[in-house]
Amino acid sequence: MNLTQKVFEAGIVGCGGAGFPTHIKYNAKVEHLIINAAECEPLLRTDRYIMCNKAREIISACEAIREHLGASDCTIALKKGYKEEIASLEVAILALASKVKIHKMESFYPAGDEQVIVCEVTGKVVPAGGIPLDVGCVVSNVATVCAVYDALNGKSFTNKYLTMTGEVGEPVVLNVPLGTSFKDCLTLAGGANIEDYFVICGGPMMGKPMTKEEALNSVVTKTTSGYIILPSGGRLPSLHQTTVEHTINRAKSACIQCNFCTQLCPRNMLGHPIEPHKIMRKIARGSIEEMIGDPVVINALLCCECGVCELYACPMQLQPRKVNSLVKKELAKNGIRYQKTGEEYTVNINREYRKIPSKRAANRAGTGKYYDYTIKNCKEFTPDKVEIPVKQHIGVPAEPVVKAGDTVRCGQLIAKCPEGKMGANIHASIDGTVKSVGEVIIIER
Ligand code: SF4
Ligand code: SF4
Repeated sequence: MNLTQKVFEAGIVGCGGAGFPTHIKYNAKVEHLIINAAECEPLLRTDRYIMCNKAREIISACEAIREHLGASDCTIALKKGYKEEIASLEVAILALASKVKIHKMESFYPAGDEQVIVCEVTGKVVPAGGIPLDVGCVVSNVATVCAVYDALNGKSFTNKYLTMTGEVGEPVVLNVPLGTSFKDCLTLAGGANIEDYFVICGGPMMGKPMTKEEALNSVVTKTTSGYIILPSGGRLPSLHQTTVEHTINRAKSACIQCNFCTQLCPRNMLGHPIEPHKIMRKIARGSIEEMIGDPVVINALLCCECGVCELYACPMQLQPRKVNSLVKKELAKNGIRYQKTGEEYTVNINREYRKIPSKRAANRAGTGKYYDYTIKNCKEFTPDKVEIPVKQHIGVPAEPVVKAGDTVRCGQLIAKCPEGKMGANIHASIDGTVKSVGEVIIIER
């Protein structure tokens, strides 16, 4: 089996984002492999923990992936302030006589955006509507690379590192089986400090918001990078709870066309034609449905939903990101996709001066008080029961290959990616007995 097949069998999907199946991403030949180790979401510490403690595995897997992709270069891109992590990686590079390079970036948000990181490392701009492959690059998250190391050593993707922070007894990095409940994770972090809380699954800027009840019914999946517990009356909860109608009405009535959202948009800074202030102006004149064929509105498809415009830039507390997200759904419903033009893009000359310091981003998101902390240890835990969704990735759900009553071992295939479809295999994350099979496979020890 070659690397792509091993990655497919192990069920690896991108750990840092939406869960794109990694075997598809690696089915390419490129010049440059870039490892995204920026961990640009303020507050998360998962990738930093992995770099400090799994450096040899990371470098070894980097070399294997680089060779598989035929890439002449492999660069790990991280923030220059990650001193311990850099030292740890450098020791591993030396020990393995590796040619992997380290690229040190400023601490800004969103340093880990795929297209931003390509520009930082190579100076190239991914074309609007394109992907890093268009400029000869593959970008892979550092946690994904760790999972590849395991796959090359015959281990399936069964466990996840994640950060628990915010209003918890003790902020901590966990290593738990997929399907572990949020409730168990919260207990491992010393419980919640407050009764009435709200949860962000992921980072404060791009994470998925959850009510307390939703969180208490959720489980760790392949894309869970952390949980942040926040007081329910704060800025993030109120933004997330704003209804669609209210968002649109506020956009119509309160946008002063100051243009700050566009000036600070990281994708606009790369030279892409997305201009959120113009989309807000259009929406102010009519309904989204009426504007659907307008080229300015179609440019909403270039929005990566980083949240800079609404959490940082807008002085009126408006939500251009949410408007873009609504527009994108409407465009998708109408079958409208962004058409690449083939033109060359030039980075805005002011880009360097408009980078947003990570700590300031955390402050504006109302999470600054949780920004500074250090993780020393990782807690490992195996629950008595796991609930494993058959869809934890982009693509079609995996098809169960076990039935209730079966005995399974950790790492055993329990749901298979359908032949010829985009998706990923799913494996048992603990030893035990299958209790039920459906959209979720429940296993008890
Ligand atoms: S969320 Fe806002 S700032 Fe980020 S890419 Fe979209 S329009 Fe630009
Ligand atoms: S920053 Fe806010 S007020 Fe200014 S143009 Fe953008 S949406 Fe309108």
